Amino acid sequence: MPEYVAPVADMRFVLDELTGLPGLASRLPAFEPASSDVVDSILQEAARFAHEVLSPLNRSGDREGARLEGGQVKAARGFGEAYRQFASGGWVGLSGNPDSGGQGLPHLLASAPTEMWSGANSAFGNCPELSTGVIAALEAHATPGLRGQYLPRILSGEWTGTMCLTEPQAGSDLAAVTARAVPEGDHWRISGRKIFITWGDHDMSDNIVHMVLARAPDAPAGIKGISLFLVPKFLPDANGVPGARNDLHTVSIEHKLGLHASPTCVLAFGDAEGATGYLVGRLHDGMGCMFTMMNYMRLSVGLQGVGIADRAYQQAVAYARERVQGRSVDGKARVPIIRHADVRRMLLTMRALVEASRAVAYVTAMHIDLSHHHPDPAERRRHHARVELLTPLVKAWSTEIAQECAATGVQVHGGMGFIEETGAAQHIRDARITTIYEGTNGIQALDLVGRKVLRDGGDALRGLLKEIEGTVGALAADGELAADGELSAMRTSLGQALAAMREAADHVIGGSAKDPQLPGAVAFDFLMALSIVTGGWQMARAAHAARQRLEQGVGNAPFLRAKVSTARFFSERILPRAHAHVAAVRAGSGSVTEMAEDQF
Ligand SMILES: Cc1cc2nc3c(=O)[nH]c(=O)nc-3n(C[C@H](O)[C@H](O)[C@H](O)COP(=O)(O)OP(=O)(O)OC[C@H]3O[C@@H](n4cnc5c(N)ncnc54)[C@H](O)[C@@H]3O)c2cc1C
Repeated sequence: MPEYVAPVADMRFVLDELTGLPGLASRLPAFEPASSDVVDSILQEAARFAHEVLSPLNRSGDREGARLEGGQVKAARGFGEAYRQFASGGWVGLSGNPDSGGQGLPHLLASAPTEMWSGANSAFGNCPELSTGVIAALEAHATPGLRGQYLPRILSGEWTGTMCLTEPQAGSDLAAVTARAVPEGDHWRISGRKIFITWGDHDMSDNIVHMVLARAPDAPAGIKGISLFLVPKFLPDANGVPGARNDLHTVSIEHKLGLHASPTCVLAFGDAEGATGYLVGRLHDGMGCMFTMMNYMRLSVGLQGVGIADRAYQQAVAYARERVQGRSVDGKARVPIIRHADVRRMLLTMRALVEASRAVAYVTAMHIDLSHHHPDPAERRRHHARVELLTPLVKAWSTEIAQECAATGVQVHGGMGFIEETGAAQHIRDARITTIYEGTNGIQALDLVGRKVLRDGGDALRGLLKEIEGTVGALAADGELAADGELSAMRTSLGQALAAMREAADHVIGGSAKDPQLPGAVAFDFLMALSIVTGGWQMARAAHAARQRLEQGVGNAPFLRAKVSTARFFSERILPRAHAHVAAVRAGSGSVTEMAEDQF
């Protein structure tokens, strides 16, 4: 199986052309550290680490898995050493606050390495990504004391982090959380059982910092009575060194479909005196604080989808070049399967989905940075609204395309894809969880329609659609380029998909008050349609930028021509899917709800 090679050229193109990072770095202080040289060296070094260190452990980690021995989880062979190299390379704290030891780079720039860790070894990537989510929550909500004690250790990678939300009766519905927190002096005593905790225990770092949702005594019922607590595996002593073992232990680890090297733990808190924990944020505002972490993690899981999909693509291309089967259309020669049109269709579908979802994810990361750091408060609010709108798209669409790409990758391999030896099947197994954790894609779709579209009467959505319209207009207005057949066809199909999306939006916004089943019945199709249109928008922008560079003779011409071809394929073969999803939205709730339950 070929090792993962990070698609540095495409990442750089997206950063430069679609997010405008160079312009941001020259205009806004928060982006200043991301100079062209820094971007180059981050991308090159991360790509090297992913290729040389993480990728070779992907198969062995899958085969061996993590294991629980004598109450302690042991990471798969090689993972501990790789993690220590990762930490000493400064990768955990890439976008962390420099005051606490982070490197202060924009989230946008950190997106590319995040994708790489997952492309190379998604089981490994889960661990530092959770730490980064904990960092975001602590930076936003913890007291200065907690920040001072914990952030530098997590940012340096000495300690890792987890998120502990799920309980057997509380999955999607976190209002049902029953873990308890009882105040005791300057801390709390936490008790309860959490399930499915990713990297909930391991032997790669000196300490593990759990972010735990629990209820204080007399807390209001439901979601408004949940608080967030920091609960370390080892309690730091006066010098900040991990000391006494806290009252929590690993009951078991799950045997699961994929991500075998990422331990999924059942954790018992407070079986004896109660685990010592510290309140993060305000009492009863745990969900608000946890959302800082969850929104970060949703972007990470989206990037995980992109990474796995790209790995599946790379592997399928390598196989398609090698495997000889069938003859050329003129019948003269036996050919490698990459010459067959149907195999090219599969490879281009994967490639187009990967490039479009990458672009949407990085552009969302740019809006995150601008929502924090833009000097104008009105602009910060506008970017925040865009982040809110795009986050469910990044999480759900990137992980849906990961399923499609991983499955298509197996198809390209023919029968060998079904045989574990080729490694193509691992991507299906690893990708499968990404549509489920961090809020299932069904929940993402409900979030999009209910909270992000209906709640503001469609304002944020209309802003996005207006911007897409602006690109359609710009493509038409750009003199010579507008006359270019390929670009003008892309413009037409984007314009048609945009018009259909507007109809879908009107249908949902206009119909939901009359039909309360409508949002739930059509949310997933709505999300898919909007994602595909947004992906098509980014691909059209990419094609436009690539054509401009070609005209000016700037950059790598074969790469730029391939970009235009991929965008054309997206426009002709993927964008039309949006119309099917819009038709499903317009069909409404009837066929979804009419059948009696006992007929299932
Ligand atoms: C490998 C793995 C790692 C995980 N890591 C973590 C972790 O680190 N920390 C953590 O806290 N949790 C973790 N989880 C838990 C994960 O986040 C949950 O499994 C997920 O949120 C779904 O919850 P559930 O499994 O209870 O499914 P359920 O909530 O029971 O959902 C079942 C189905 O019903 C649908 N559904 C549920 N409610 C609604 C509704 N209101 N409207 C419409 N449809 C609905 C869902 O979309 C889904 O299709 C992990 C899970 C796994 C398997």
